[in-house]
Amino acid sequence: MLRRTLILLGLLLFAVVPSARAQSAPLKTGELRLTYLGNAGWEITDGRTVVLVDPFLTQFARWTRTGPAPDVAPDAFYPADTALINAHVKRADYILITHGHPDHALDAGYISRRTGAVIIGHETAANLARAYDVPDSNLITVIGGEDYEFGGFSLAVVPNIHSALDNKRYFNNGRGIVGTAPRGLRAPLRRRDYVEGGNLAYLLRMAGHEVLIMGSMNYLEREMEGLRPDVALVGANSQRLEIHDYTGRLMRALGDPAVVIPSHADGYGNPNPPPAALADRQRFIAEVNAASPTSRVIVPTWFEPIVIPPRTVAGRTGGRQVINPPGIAPLVPAYSVAIRDGDLVFVSGMTGVKPGTQEIVDGGIAAQTRQTLTNIRSALESAGASMGDVAECSVFLVDMSEYAAMNAVYLEFFRADPPARATLAVSALPRPAARVEIKCSARVRR
Ligand SMILES: [Zn+2]
Repeated sequence: MLRRTLILLGLLLFAVVPSARAQSAPLKTGELRLTYLGNAGWEITDGRTVVLVDPFLTQFARWTRTGPAPDVAPDAFYPADTALINAHVKRADYILITHGHPDHALDAGYISRRTGAVIIGHETAANLARAYDVPDSNLITVIGGEDYEFGGFSLAVVPNIHSALDNKRYFNNGRGIVGTAPRGLRAPLRRRDYVEGGNLAYLLRMAGHEVLIMGSMNYLEREMEGLRPDVALVGANSQRLEIHDYTGRLMRALGDPAVVIPSHADGYGNPNPPPAALADRQRFIAEVNAASPTSRVIVPTWFEPIVIPPRTVAGRTGGRQVINPPGIAPLVPAYSVAIRDGDLVFVSGMTGVKPGTQEIVDGGIAAQTRQTLTNIRSALESAGASMGDVAECSVFLVDMSEYAAMNAVYLEFFRADPPARATLAVSALPRPAARVEIKCSARVRR
């Protein structure tokens, strides 16, 4: 606990010291760098375009005094902390705003004025920015449902809803935090001016990646269904517990994203979060692991860049793509790991080979089944598909008495509406140590 405290204090010191060192390291083609700015705030860049999300550097100001400052009263002026912003935001081309609450929209007007960034958000986000004299040429007002092409990236605006604050009484809490900010506001603004104005999520496609961006602990399942981000910035603080099966439904709707990053779960910049908050972070990770075992959860650290490597480049032959992900590609080119033809994906029979080796994992049928399906998952992802897209599988066992052990693990990967399947016992598999081989076919549902 002490060590953790020291680390967090170290982060705080880093947070208040002007620095953009790692944020400016060059990126290779296909890499995407995400830098956590605190709360639901992100910098996302491919090295060419810098997109900010809900920047709220001002949150760190309150922790630099002795203990946290009291909450800003509704009628009190709520200025952006320009020193903190200047220290951490060197450049911005676009700023995405999920909603108008101060912990999402407070810093945007100042940043736009300083950098010339274009703010993308709903009418309230635009009117809050206009209060800071952001010109209409630097405002793109959206309502949800748009899918805009910007050249270097594209952006789908996903209709969304706010967290169920105040014990599910968000819309009758009387705190004046809902509604639409009017035109004609003039800075300085008071806290009560930062009303929600509706809620948006975004799917940012950049450098071959698709990043789902959420600013609240809630979502519209049908709007998420079929999106296939490889990176999901998921609103993850304890307000999610108000929502039925929050993490499970989301992971299934999104087709089990390869990388899940909890956002809006840093205690508003608290450098010394209480034990309950730390426990809740672990609980979110457990929820993702249970719902989507193949997803990797990365807990972000303030201002520490996360570089997402290029998505596997698939070779093209005629109209069909040959998919051979590194680590599980065959040594001898007698077959391809997967073939994508249009929206169909065919995955070769996979075994429990540990990626990067030619060794079958230890641990018998259960461990082999888990590794086999993890390898299938990697192949599908490289082909732009997910486990949720799988239509049929064939399972080959060398001993049918191991059916139950195989099946228990198999169902971890296909929890709802599992694919059609055949299970056969065979006299041998090409790899003598293999107890199971599985092949699958999928249709990418976009
Ligand atoms: Zn909010």
